[in-house]
Amino acid sequence: MNVHEYQAKELFREYGVAVPAGELATTPAEAEAAAKKLGTPVTVVKAQVHAGGRGKGGGVKLAKSPAEALQHASDILGMTLVTHQTGPEGKLVRKVYVEAGSDISRELYLALTLDRGTEEFAIIASTEGGMDIEEVAEKTPERIHTEFIDPNVGLCGYQIKKVARALELDPPQTKKLEKFLRGLFRMYLEKDASLVEINPLVVTVDGDLLALDGKLNFDDNALFRQPDIAELRDPDEEDERERAANEIDLAYVGLDGNVGCMVNGAGLAMATLDMIAVCGGSPANFLDAGGGADKEKVKEAFKLILRDENVKAILVNIFGGIVRCDLIAEGVVAAADELSIGVPLVVRLQGTNAAEGREILAQSGLNITAAETLGEAGERVVAAAQGA
Ligand code: GDP
Ligand code: MN
Repeated sequence: MNVHEYQAKELFREYGVAVPAGELATTPAEAEAAAKKLGTPVTVVKAQVHAGGRGKGGGVKLAKSPAEALQHASDILGMTLVTHQTGPEGKLVRKVYVEAGSDISRELYLALTLDRGTEEFAIIASTEGGMDIEEVAEKTPERIHTEFIDPNVGLCGYQIKKVARALELDPPQTKKLEKFLRGLFRMYLEKDASLVEINPLVVTVDGDLLALDGKLNFDDNALFRQPDIAELRDPDEEDERERAANEIDLAYVGLDGNVGCMVNGAGLAMATLDMIAVCGGSPANFLDAGGGADKEKVKEAFKLILRDENVKAILVNIFGGIVRCDLIAEGVVAAADELSIGVPLVVRLQGTNAAEGREILAQSGLNITAAETLGEAGERVVAAAQGA
């Protein structure tokens, strides 16, 4: 789960990670009042959306007076911000964060995440902050320092010194980095975070170290024990289809193709997406109906898939291991009865009660193309989507 920059910074503050003073505003008047209250010569008005690259898209603006902060806020609030992370449709800005302006001397990059390869935490640090780290990684990888932290040992003093050296900090700044990193690491562990990215981490003209930006991601599987983090969820920022799927306990990821997919098991679902691509098609979604899929769930899954107007054909690919294929078939028939599925349907059933399942579908009078193998299923559904 992602949170907004202002929420990330509130958490940083709690853990002693230095950030500028700031206030949230939902109207231009509030932004003006916030700038007045902050009282600094310069304030920064920042669009709050779950996407990076806001600066380049016109979502971060410096104001030299409260009146100017009001002007920027009225420009930014309600705008559809397009960045390289929002997709071409952009994101509606509903809130701005008004922050005390900083006198920047250097912009650095700092991230903390879990490296699955080494099974350790990783601090990623670079002197090349403020720009796309992907570009730095590609063109000048030697400017990125990665420090691995053994979870059984924790963050050690010498590692902080190595990061400080990589960031070219002087001794007083290194002391500040120590507090910064220790706080960040403790927050990461205590709150079940999965990624912290601070770009830029700045050294101010006065030699202070401040997080100017903050992207924070949390492990969804740990939210049950992090009620205060779960509360930070902003439904406005989530894909509407994924949210609906969440509510009915389906694992769904929207994609941009035209072949709807209903599969049980994440591995089989991934293989199905691959097969559709191999057959020259493009999937509209990932959907794992889960091991316990029943009639009701199948119906809900169909509703979800059909909400996507791009869907031109649907592939149902079920391996009956825990689930029974006859129950899935009943679900398909019930869904078709209720929802008037207007697109071709290709169904592949294998495993427990597959024969019974196929019989139910054959008897239903529905226009369904059956498939035996995964390859066959892929070919038929792609042909159906292209013919439509
Ligand atoms: P992003 O574009 O979504 O990553 O948003 P950021 O929070 O990183 O802001 C983008 C850029 O705005 C930063 O890299 C800074 O160069 C600039 N910026 C943000 N806050 C300040 C500030 O307080 N003072 C100055 N001078 N520049 C700032
Ligand atoms: Mn940034």
